Amino acid sequence: MTRTNASANPAAPNPSGQLDAWGWIDYSVPSPFSRWRWHIFVNRFLICLLAIVAPLGAQSEPYACPDTAVTVDAGSPEAGQEVCDLVARASTQLASCSLEITRPLTITLADSLSDDCYGQFFCEDDLIKVLSPQALAAAVSDDSIYQALPDDTFFQGILVHELAHAATDDMPCPFESCLLGQEYISYAMMMQSFPDDQRTMLIEDRFQRQIYRDELSLMILAMAPEVFAQKAWLHFSQRPDPCGFIGQIADGTVLLDTEHF
Ligand SMILES: [Zn+2]
Repeated sequence: MTRTNASANPAAPNPSGQLDAWGWIDYSVPSPFSRWRWHIFVNRFLICLLAIVAPLGAQSEPYACPDTAVTVDAGSPEAGQEVCDLVARASTQLASCSLEITRPLTITLADSLSDDCYGQFFCEDDLIKVLSPQALAAAVSDDSIYQALPDDTFFQGILVHELAHAATDDMPCPFESCLLGQEYISYAMMMQSFPDDQRTMLIEDRFQRQIYRDELSLMILAMAPEVFAQKAWLHFSQRPDPCGFIGQIADGTVLLDTEHF
């Protein structure tokens, strides 16, 4: 999407370099494959590594959510409590699929985010940044499927998405990254957070069919994240035991990712 969750859909950077020390980028041989690897790099960068170098920005005194390890920087204690209430609701939803947030977290509301993101999770800092509801409403483009959602519903969904990342950041992974599995969970949980009638409006007719696992790829995630969101939800909801499937991804029994050479 043109503006989206950072860990799902980075804005396209401006390739200008050679193969770097990471070995992920090869601009000298442009190809769908090298571009694909490049997106993997960018996603990994935005999920975690950005936290190492990104300034956290000015923050007001954070508000501690009662009985949790979550603090919120929303500009005022009243706004902080409202976000805490949403976090509590999100945590209950995630727990219904056995996703537990065990790490301390700080949630900061922002007027803008880098890379045209709706939300970002910085695992190295235990930090989630999300656009404020007002900024989020302004950021959704007219051609986005999320345009149909009420502002508070979409805000809750973005919060759920990022909290799901926090819950799965340390899930078992035999590769350098299990981004596909993590994004599958985050998008499925985000879509699940929407009321049934509102979520139904988001699903395009062309996807009203059986969705197969190989339709969910990092390529789709990078190039068409709103398609990925729809397919992740449909695939998830079509499982005989949807939350059981999420649990299998989270504990490493089911592996959606593959090794990238
Ligand atoms: Zn994500």
